[in-house]
Amino acid sequence: MTKARIFRELGLRATMPGANCGGEWFASSRDVITVRSPATGELLGKVTQASAADYQRVLRASQKAFAEFRALPAPRRGEIVRQVGVALREKKDVLGALVSLEMGKILTEGLGEVQEMIDICDFAVGQARFLSGPTLQSERPGHRMMEQWHPLGTVGIITAFNFPVAVWGWNTALAWVCGDTTVWKPSSKTPLCAIACQNIVNEVFARNGLPEGTSAVVIGRGAMIGERLIADGRIPLVSATGSTRMGKRIGAVVGARLGRTILELGGNNALIVSERCDLDGALASAFFGAVGTAGQRCTSTRRLIIHESIYRRFLRRLIDLYARVNIGDPLDPRTLMGPLIDEGAVADFEHAVAAAVAQGGTILYGGKVKRASRQRRRTFVEPTIIEIANRAPIVQSETFAPILYVMKYRTLAQALRIHNDVPQGLSSAIYTDSVSEAGTFLSYRGSDCGIANVNVGTSGAEIGGAFGGEKETGGGRESGSDVWKAYMRRQTNTINWDREIHLAQGVQFEF
Ligand code: NAD
Repeated sequence: MTKARIFRELGLRATMPGANCGGEWFASSRDVITVRSPATGELLGKVTQASAADYQRVLRASQKAFAEFRALPAPRRGEIVRQVGVALREKKDVLGALVSLEMGKILTEGLGEVQEMIDICDFAVGQARFLSGPTLQSERPGHRMMEQWHPLGTVGIITAFNFPVAVWGWNTALAWVCGDTTVWKPSSKTPLCAIACQNIVNEVFARNGLPEGTSAVVIGRGAMIGERLIADGRIPLVSATGSTRMGKRIGAVVGARLGRTILELGGNNALIVSERCDLDGALASAFFGAVGTAGQRCTSTRRLIIHESIYRRFLRRLIDLYARVNIGDPLDPRTLMGPLIDEGAVADFEHAVAAAVAQGGTILYGGKVKRASRQRRRTFVEPTIIEIANRAPIVQSETFAPILYVMKYRTLAQALRIHNDVPQGLSSAIYTDSVSEAGTFLSYRGSDCGIANVNVGTSGAEIGGAFGGEKETGGGRESGSDVWKAYMRRQTNTINWDREIHLAQGVQFEF
């Protein structure tokens, strides 16, 4: 698919302003992002970032829209989200290709990301008819109690570069059926995907007569627009996806004004490979988990903890697979691994490899950066396997690159100790045929992560379950299950349907 077709069908132009509330695009700063393909360096477009005044315009529109949007019955809001899902189905091919072009993940993963948005729209449509609270038995005669959920307000959504469309979809589909308006600050590394998504939604919302500001985008630097958004008392909920460093800052600023956050931060995900397991399955899961998306998923497999009796054999087979990885143009169907997002990410990769060696690690495969050429930027690296101890400082932090640290274990208790001995707690997995090992892994003394899988790798998740992690991953949950509750305000009601006044706990107050 050509760039011209992608741009035409998604309403993109060579130069674009970076703020929108539904009508025209605007931006009045002098700060222009030059967007280049991470694979080839080809100029994709230029986007003017929003100024402080643009941010205020967006927020005013969002607040105004909320007053109207919250009054629509939730099933009607769900019907509009259903139409967003239909529009995404129609644009799936071009939007998936744009994700691949701008972010660098291979095409099948770009398409999968759009499918995730379609899935969460479907989920949200059903949810719109079931934003339910319980009715409760009152201790007082003639009284009844219930809980209700009301729309919350303007939700701020801050997203990372690596899922440039899906994470926004996870948040907005739920926020909209809950009656909230949304303001999106996407990563400045992937602004074109954000503009394309907003264009798709604008068409649907305008057709349905929704007020401008129901969905808004404000592209700008974290230090400028991001900081304004998190400090803004008009935004009761900030849902932020990104690094732990960013999350600590956002948690502190939003917490200081007693706002709410959903924090989806870095992972340090491990796969335990038991000697009693389907080795082929474990191999496939480790391979996809570590090499897929060039190691740039929050759920990428970063550590492999292998039973000592199969350690050498397993690694030999894994290294064979690594040697066959086709690295190149993410839009070419033969490619298995595309580039890293930019040269900064390559520098992080080089730093991590050097640190691992300095800290006692041995490179078993890869470790090098591919040289730049006319068709290729210096953003391609070799998928890398390093044997190292879990306690090495570099293993304790997340490097957003295809580096897999491998280590061995003797007993399950030891494997679990190693597994949980990192500051992050996002995704985890064990490959085992033993019911006892699987049960232990999923129990209170097993994995301490928000996601724990058996005979399924760490990387990727379906939208039906709550998604997120513990410890430095931030504790937030997005997507399925009962996550919609985070986007609403809860109210407990007591109704006296009889004449007599009764005070709770039998208190008497006679007059
Ligand atoms: P990043 O932290 O550099 O940036 C994420 C977003 O935060 C960007 O939009 C950025 O502009 C914004 N930001 C930065 N500083 C800010 C501030 N002070 N105030 C407000 N906004 C600010 O992350 P990245 O490099 O884009 O993405 C990679 C990271 O994201 C990895 O750590 C990865 O694990 C994490 N991630 C986590 C999940 C999850 O669900 N847990 C999903 C995807 C990515």
